[in-house]
Amino acid sequence: MSDLFIGGAWSPAATGRSFPTLNPADGTVITTCAEAGPADVDRAVGAAREAADAWAAHPEHLRARLLWRVADLIEANAEELAELESRDSGQLLGVAREVSVPGTAEHFRYFAGWCTKIQGAVLPVAFPDTLHYTRREPVGVCALITPWNFPLMIAAWKLAPALACGNTVIIKPAEQTPLSTVRLVELMSEAGFPPGVVNLLTGGPGTGRALAAHPAVDKISFTGSTEVGRSLVSAAAGGLKRLTLELGGKAPSIIAADADLDAAVAGNLTGALFHSGQVCAAYARFYVDRKRADEFTEKMAAGAAALRIGPGDDPASWLGPLVSEEHLRSVDAHVRGAVYEGADLVGGGRRVDRPGFFYEPAVFAGVTDDMAIAREEVFGPVIPVLAYDDPDELVARANALEYGLAASIWTRDLSTAHRLAARIRAGAIFINMIHVPDAATTWGGYKASGWGREMGPYAIDAYTEVKGVWTHLGPGSR
Ligand code: NAP
Repeated sequence: MSDLFIGGAWSPAATGRSFPTLNPADGTVITTCAEAGPADVDRAVGAAREAADAWAAHPEHLRARLLWRVADLIEANAEELAELESRDSGQLLGVAREVSVPGTAEHFRYFAGWCTKIQGAVLPVAFPDTLHYTRREPVGVCALITPWNFPLMIAAWKLAPALACGNTVIIKPAEQTPLSTVRLVELMSEAGFPPGVVNLLTGGPGTGRALAAHPAVDKISFTGSTEVGRSLVSAAAGGLKRLTLELGGKAPSIIAADADLDAAVAGNLTGALFHSGQVCAAYARFYVDRKRADEFTEKMAAGAAALRIGPGDDPASWLGPLVSEEHLRSVDAHVRGAVYEGADLVGGGRRVDRPGFFYEPAVFAGVTDDMAIAREEVFGPVIPVLAYDDPDELVARANALEYGLAASIWTRDLSTAHRLAARIRAGAIFINMIHVPDAATTWGGYKASGWGREMGPYAIDAYTEVKGVWTHLGPGSR
């Protein structure tokens, strides 16, 4: 059983309620976690509020040391964190070891570096004898709400910049995958953050709702579905809370006539099926020059069928389980819907006959833009192939959806690549490569894929307010 972390101490929920978290590889209960209710939310926000002024004034170089120490502790406990992440979310152990855990540590290190470099500017103003400068100040109490697909890394994408900028935080992981975040918060406590600076609430959607609605929360940083993101806009409206939203996607992948097809197949298999397609930037609709569409589809279907499906802790596995029974049913409903609408299921597309939530990747040919499988986020191992005849139609088709998180372009022609990159409305474009995040770059969406950006200098904007300070330097008062 894991507890809540509020004001520097671990405690059960005030109601005593808890919920189980399951291993998606076999459906068994791993452990239970405290389910935070409104009284716990109130206590956590109160603790963060109480700690806010002292933490904002905490010397920057000491904040940096704490963040750096978190990175060291993550590395010292890397294997335990990787195993927890894999067991709780179904992530392949190799991915947890080589991507999630090191990526989390590096994120803390990157923002440790920022602590001493967050600066204002002296701005020239039209008034004579006047000094004007800006200060970057913390926003205050930040509610950080994370999804189940990459729990550890996405927690770091929020915790590290929020704390570097001098905010206090309450983190709420997804109920399906809380365990690595609980362990991370234990390590943060061990690193020596003052009580109340970092607080943890585990629980379901009710916990998230109560946290987002709390009047003493200054900022909500949310990663999750577009649907819940929209509801948070309403929750934030009354108090005009600051809001960063990292939401859903349906990334187009364009395979031009001149693409190196074998490289495109290899890259798009990973782009579509990494973490069983449960990736917001996953390549999820494939526009292929009609002359090469059949060859591409056949090779994708053969490649997908050859991928070994199995539990995250089996080194031979390439595709792990989906996160839950509920999510598997949702993916399967999308696949059945596509068949019903007339898409041609070339391979896969059914539950694997074994315990746990395993699903064979589905490859579809003959998909058209009006089909739901080409428009809706499935967030699973599904590859819909759409043919195109004229490259001039690509921009409009890629931009036709409300999503705009990521896109991918496969071509040997740099001018094709960069012309498309400039015209596709998405927060990240990957040319001849798979989707990857990096702490030093930018992450976020256009349109219904979100508001604001995480990572790099953009995260500093997300977690600071800018204040202008004016001083009259001449004689007398102005
Ligand atoms: P979700 O259902 O929207 O949940 C995300 C988080 O919000 C969870 O912690 C959830 O708690 C909580 N929550 C649910 N309802 C809430 C409410 N009304 N108010 C406040 N919090 C609430 O998303 P998910 O299923 O976990 O994740 C998949 C989605 O995340 C996909 O759409 C994917 O594209 C998106 N995603 C986006 C990015 C990005 O960077 N843009 C990255 C990863 C994932 P419970 O889980 O406990 O219900």
